[in-house]
Parts: sequence; C-alpha cells; structure tokens
Amino acid sequence: MKYEVVIGLEVHAQLSTNSKIFCTCANRYGEAPNTLTCPVCLGMPGTLPVLNEQAIHFAIKTGLALECSIRRYSRTARKNYFYPDLPKGYQISQYEDPICYNGKLLIETDGKPREIGITRIHIEEDAGKSIHGMGSGTGVDFNRCGVPLIEIVSEPDMRSPAEARAYLAKLKQILKYLNVSDCNMEEGSLRCDANVSLRPMGATTLGTKTEVKNMNSFRAVEKALEYEVARQTTVLDEGGRIEAVTLFWNDATEEAVLMRSKEEAHDYRYFPEPDLVPISVPEAMVETIRGQLPELPAARAERFLKAYGLNEETVRILIAEVEWARYFEDVVKTGVKAKSAATWVTGEVLRVLKEREAGLDDFPVSASRLGELIRYIEAGKISNQAAKKVFETMLTSDQAVAELIEAAGLSQVSDTDFLETIIREVLAAHPEELARYREGKKQLMGFFVGQVMKKSKGRANPKIVNQLLQSALESD
Ligand SMILES: [Zn+2]
Repeated sequence: MKYEVVIGLEVHAQLSTNSKIFCTCANRYGEAPNTLTCPVCLGMPGTLPVLNEQAIHFAIKTGLALECSIRRYSRTARKNYFYPDLPKGYQISQYEDPICYNGKLLIETDGKPREIGITRIHIEEDAGKSIHGMGSGTGVDFNRCGVPLIEIVSEPDMRSPAEARAYLAKLKQILKYLNVSDCNMEEGSLRCDANVSLRPMGATTLGTKTEVKNMNSFRAVEKALEYEVARQTTVLDEGGRIEAVTLFWNDATEEAVLMRSKEEAHDYRYFPEPDLVPISVPEAMVETIRGQLPELPAARAERFLKAYGLNEETVRILIAEVEWARYFEDVVKTGVKAKSAATWVTGEVLRVLKEREAGLDDFPVSASRLGELIRYIEAGKISNQAAKKVFETMLTSDQAVAELIEAAGLSQVSDTDFLETIIREVLAAHPEELARYREGKKQLMGFFVGQVMKKSKGRANPKIVNQLLQSALESD
C-alpha cells in the first residue's frame, strides 16, 4: 500500500416533484418523447422560469437529513454549455451559494464506521436526452428537460471503492426514506460521478484527480473505481503523471475510456441567473420541514432492536428499504409475534421479491393477509411447512386465507387417533431404528418425527407428534 486512495462523489438525484422545476409540465418518466414540454422547458426566447417551491422543500429536507446548514438566502446561477439536449444553451444551477452546505453522512464498511463530509447540496435542472440510432440520425427527447435535480457533493473523504459504494448505498437509502426521489439508477433518477486521486501514504496534499462518469449501479461504481485506482497506480509506479481527465465507464467491457480533458468551473462561465430572484428560505420554513422529517434508517434500526428484540442482521435487512420496514411493522400490527413477522418478511417475502425483481408496490400479498397466515401457524392450526405452500397460492389468489388452507388440504392434523395410526406404521416400517433407539440412541427421535411428518404430508402437528412418539417409543 504505497498510495492512499482519495475519492469524492457527486450524486445527482431527480426529485419526485409533481411538476418540473421552472414550468408546470408534469415530471414523469417513460412518456412518449416530447409530450411533456412547453415553451419554458424548450428554452423558447422570451419565456421566463418560475421556481417550483416543492423542489426547494425537497432539497432542504435532504439537507436536514444529512445534517447540513441551510442557507437562508441562496442564488441560482447559469452554467453555460452547448449540448443538443440543452435547448437554452445553459443549465440553471447553483454555484457560489448552494442551498445546503457542510453536512455529513455516517457509513460503515467491514463493521468500521466512518464519517463522510457533505460539501454541498444544490438544486438544478436536468437536460433532455439524445436518442441515438434513429435511422441515420439522432433524436432528442426534451421530456427530461427541466426535471428538478439535487446534486449532492461529498468531501474527498472516501478511502476505497468499497467506501464509495457504501456511501452511495447509504445516501440512496436516506433519499428513499425521505421520499424525495425514487432513486432508480436504471432509469437515471440517481446518477453518480466520482473524483479519484492517489497520493503517497502519509501525504497531506491531494494528487491530481480524474473524474469517472457513467456508473449506473452500485456494482459499477465499485468496479469502475477499482479500475481507475489500478490505472493511476500503474501510471505513478512507472514514473508518469496523472492528467486531469474525464473517463467514461463502459460496464460491458469493464473499462474506462477517456472522454475529454476535464473542464474547470471557468469553462462554464457561471454567472448569477438574471431571470430568477434569490431564494429566500424563512427560518419557520426550515423548522416546519425539520418537524416533518421521517424516522431515518439509523433511528429506525435502533427502535427495531429495542422494541422487537430482533438481532442486528435481521434489522439491517428489514430497514434496508423503507417499504420493507413499513411492511414488516404492518404485519406485526396484525397481532403476530415480531420474530415470526421478521422471519417471514426476510425469508419468503424477500425471496419472492428478489425472484421477481420487483418492489413491494406490486406485491400481491398484503401485510394483513400475511399476518393472518402467521396467526394460523401461531395457533397451531397449520404447520410452518404447510404455510409456505399456502403462501405460494396467495401470490396468485385473493381468496380468503382460511379457504386457501382448506382447499389445499393443509390444515394441521391434531387428531390423535389418526396420528397414532401413522406412528404405528412408521415404527413397524423401521424395526432396526426402533431397536437402536431403545438401546439408547435417543437422537433417532428426529428421524421418527421426520418420517411421521412425511407420511402426513407435512400436515401433522409437530408438537402432538412429539408427545405421541415419545410415549410410543417408551412403551412396549
Ligand atoms: Zn415545461
């Protein structure tokens, strides 16, 4: 380890406001190209922007959650550059006076907590999107033009690609808890650029940094940064110098290609936006938003540990997504034990979500129905194994849980006459094991229970089987 890795991240999150940031066009993804546009977001001459207050609320909410200071008076700035999907020829952003500054985010890698500084959070508008390969040309879709973004800039505090990944994951989790962005990386509503440099171990000045773009998944962030760290290491080892460049990560080839020499702030000729007044944020507004902050992941984890007596790993899984945590609590509210609810949510529910690559929004089993199913197990009316089968049918049927259990013939058998018959058959079929048991090999109890369960097709009540078996094995 000759060099220390220094990474800072710039994360853009699309805000889930109803309308765009400077006009009344709807802010929606996936509509037909150029159907969500108006003269303002198309940059027609003579139009004027009007700032969307909801975007400011969302930015402040994020700032407070990341322990930032909120600037009472901030300004917008013009960032000038030409690109076909930017009809105005400039982007309205913030430069000198971002709305939030000086915050922090706690991350953890390999059980080691670290604090990552947040330099600033500013608001800006998104550009449109070029669609290449349309016949011989390129089309431009302006639906995304004017969609509100926040850019969250970290301090260069991360010391490894794994930390950068952990930071991004934590940030995404918080944004989702705040409900300010859907953070869908595939749809581009959460985008991440990284600044990477190396310096000799122990050095205090920063080395020349490069910028890596186009990392569209957590995995890509880690891979791309590992690639860039290795590349810079080789350059430095061979006595070369790092050039300040921008690199474009290609996920398919797992290589970063040089895009252009990195631009500097003065290339954009920032100046105060003349079409908008400064943004004034009254103290009362900040306090109102602070009062509306939801319970954040760290606080929720602590509460889950204490209130439900779950282990840390289970809690970590449950709070990973805000909707999982909510669903779990909704199941608990139906009156079942927290541990059973946690086992079902982290087990069967997440397994199905993973298989379907879906979220809980389209999950067919409501928390109250899952709670009902668990109550049947807790009441001893159905075995855990049988409940899993019923759960499968609940994925495709709205029928009452009781009816599904009945229809599947899965209600638990506690009829002692019936179970005793099965036990007699099992003992008769395994005389050798029976003899060994009676000679003192008591571990064979599990084997006999298994055989009885199998013969009853998983429907036998295990508690009663245990009692009946015990007396059958001890008698004679
Ligand atoms: Zn518009």
